[in-house]
Order: sequence, then structure tokens, then C-alpha cells
Amino acid sequence: MSDQKFSTNALHAGHDVTVNGGTRAVPIYQSTSYVFNNTDHAANLFSLAELGFIYTRLNNPTNQILQDRLAAIEGGIGAVVFASGTAAISTGLMTLLKAGDHIVASSSLYGGTYNLLNVTLPRLGITTTFVDASNPSNFAAAVQDNTRAFFVESLGNPKLDVLDLKGISNEAKEAQVPFIVDNTVATPGLLNPIEHGANLVIHSLTKYIGGQGNSLGGAIIDAGTFDWANGKFPEFTEPSAGYHGLVYHEALGAPAFTFKLILEGLRDFGGALSPFNAFQILQGLETLPVRIKQHSINALDLAEWLENREEVAWVNYPGLKSSKYNDLAKEYLPKGQSGIVTFGVKGGFEAAKKLTDATKIFSLLANIGDTKSLIIHPASTTHQQLNEEQQQSAGVSQDLIRLSVGLEDIEDLKADLEQAFAAI
Ligand SMILES: *Cc1c(COP(=O)(O)O)cnc(C)c1O
Repeated sequence: MSDQKFSTNALHAGHDVTVNGGTRAVPIYQSTSYVFNNTDHAANLFSLAELGFIYTRLNNPTNQILQDRLAAIEGGIGAVVFASGTAAISTGLMTLLKAGDHIVASSSLYGGTYNLLNVTLPRLGITTTFVDASNPSNFAAAVQDNTRAFFVESLGNPKLDVLDLKGISNEAKEAQVPFIVDNTVATPGLLNPIEHGANLVIHSLTKYIGGQGNSLGGAIIDAGTFDWANGKFPEFTEPSAGYHGLVYHEALGAPAFTFKLILEGLRDFGGALSPFNAFQILQGLETLPVRIKQHSINALDLAEWLENREEVAWVNYPGLKSSKYNDLAKEYLPKGQSGIVTFGVKGGFEAAKKLTDATKIFSLLANIGDTKSLIIHPASTTHQQLNEEQQQSAGVSQDLIRLSVGLEDIEDLKADLEQAFAAI
């Protein structure tokens, strides 16, 4: 299946119609648990002598189809789904790391991820150095003896910085740590981080992959390329106290981390995806290839239009020739630059708030990647808890407005912004 192209995989990968009773649509297996044939069968499943479903906190047939499909479209060897993108990130990092470990991360991250790394994980003894990600050597310079991961977003939300993924992945290889890339904004429709050296890819499925704003979900896709036996990760090469002495690397090989995510991450932290949400997200994923193209076309059109408005101080979209990320966008995002546009309104904080209050088609809410157009003023909402210096390194200025450009007619979107500009 994974030899096939993206659009085909988005529709078919993981779903064997002969196994699922001939159902053309993926069925929802809304069951918490699975009947064992007998006690020996149950014992084999628990000891991994045989693979199968035990309990939906660990896995579920509907979720498994979503996992296989995500692995296929990102080019990984396995994937695990979670209740949200945040559950994917926190469970992934807590499965990978322990107290005393250190992360090097881009300073322009999704606000929730930034807080996890900056405030919550340090409480558990896991610290992060945030670096200006525009230069890969900044990652190398921040590496310590206890560094165990690099973490970035391929297209930062909301800074929209396109990173030199190849350069950063080379530094991660040099440091012998996994390179983790949150690919939520770019989506596998525009960029596959594994092709550029990512070892683990993260998605908030809530955004473009689900795409209709109805279901939370998250995923980690494992490239299967990281050498867990390099000496820095004894949890993979020594018997695991958490799974009756299992030596992950020896017993499971390349997908060792995928298994650890299920056997320890989901078992102990419990952030499992509801099968109903997996179903909704699969419906969305089927049309991701066509949606993400149109989101990109609409966003570029609107960004160019905004650049010519006198009420606008600046526009940031990596597809614009004026963007300082345009060269990197040509290299990493040649098929389109996704649907997020940010811009500054003349008049600063107050004018930005007024404009945000005045739109009628653009909905004021804290989400991205919906088919419907969305607007938010991050300085007063999503990034309100950060101080001004932190806001700046996250790329959030007082006048910044973030648009998630939807699939409405582009002329209606322009008219909506035009009447909102008139209102300020
Ligand atoms: C939304 C988002 C997340 C968090 O995902 P949730 O599904 O909201 O928990 C993580 N990373 C990025 C880039 C996001 O946009």
C-alpha cells in the first residue's frame, strides 16, 4: 500500500475490505475490549507472543486503520494515535525522556507546546533550551551531555517560519538524538519531514487532517530510523521494569518506540483516541489531498491582496515573495504553503482587536485548519500568558492577526475583511 501515492493512500491505506466485512467505509469499532479465545490466547497477547487487540486504551481496530494510514502518508513504519495533538506530544516526550534529560527546541512553537516544555516538564526534571531555529548551528550550540531530543515545527504556528529541516536533522544526527518534527501546519500533503531526516513526526489531527473542526486527535509517526541502541537510551536496551523485563530494542527492532508508546505511553498516561473520533478524522483525511491544495491557493491569494491594503502594516505568508522564508518555502513547500496567514494592522493592539471583532465569515476562535475561515488575535488570547519577550520569540506581536483561510469563495473572504477594515 505504501508504494502508492499520497491521494491513494489517503483513501485506502490500512483498510482491508475483506477483513472488515466488506464495508467500503471504515467501520467504527465502538468497543472498549475484545473477547479472548481462551486464557492461553489472552496470555499470549499480554506477553506479545501474539499481536492483537486487548483494550481500547492500547489499541482499537478503527484507530489501527487511522494509524496505518498516517504511517503510509508520512512514510513511517508505524504510528500511534492519541486523544489530541497535545496528548501525542506530552505522552511522546514522557515515554522518551526521564528526569534529568534535556531538549533543544525551536523558540517558535505552538503556545501549548511551549508551555509544556517551558513550565510543566521542568517541574518533572526535564528541561528545554529554546533556540532561534533559523540557523541549524544554534541547535548544535545548545546540546548538553543530557540532551535527548530536538523538537521543532516544520512550519511554525503562528510565526510561519519554514525551517531548514535537513540542516537541523544533520545536527540531531551529530548529537545522536531523535529529531522530532511537529508537521501539523504543513500536513503530509505539502511536506514529509521523514524525507528530510525527521525520526518522529507529530500531528494534531484536530487541524487539517480531520479538517472540519469536529474532532480532537493527535498522532506520532515513527520513521523507524533512529538507533535506540546508541548508548544514550538505556530504556531501550535494558530490561524494562515497566513491561516485565522486555528489552525493547532487542525484542522489537526498528519499531521499538512505537511499541513503547503503546505499551507504556498509552497504558500509563491513558490519552487514547476515541474510535468515533478516529472515524471522523479518517473521513477528513480522505479529502486532505484536495483540501490542502485549495487552502494554500486561497491563503496565497488573500496574502497578496492584504499586502496591497493601506490598513495593513505587514503580511507574513511563506508563499509571498516578500517573505524571508520564501526561499526555504520553495525548497520544502513547493506544492503550497498551507492556509495560515498572519498580518499586522496599522493601529496595533486595539485596531487588531477591533478588526477581529468585526468579521462575519471569519469566526473568532482558537483553532486552525478548518474548512471554514477562522480569525484570532493571539496577543490577547492564545499567547496572552507569555511575557513580551517570549511573545516576540514566538513571533507574536501586539498587532498580529492570524487567519486560517478556509474553503469559502475567495471574493467573499476579501469582502468580509474589507467591511471589517471599514469598521476600524
Ligand atoms: C493545535 C496544535 C497542537 C496541539 O494539538 P491539539 O489537538 O489542540 O491538542 C500542537 N501543535 C500544533 C502546531 C498545533 O497547531
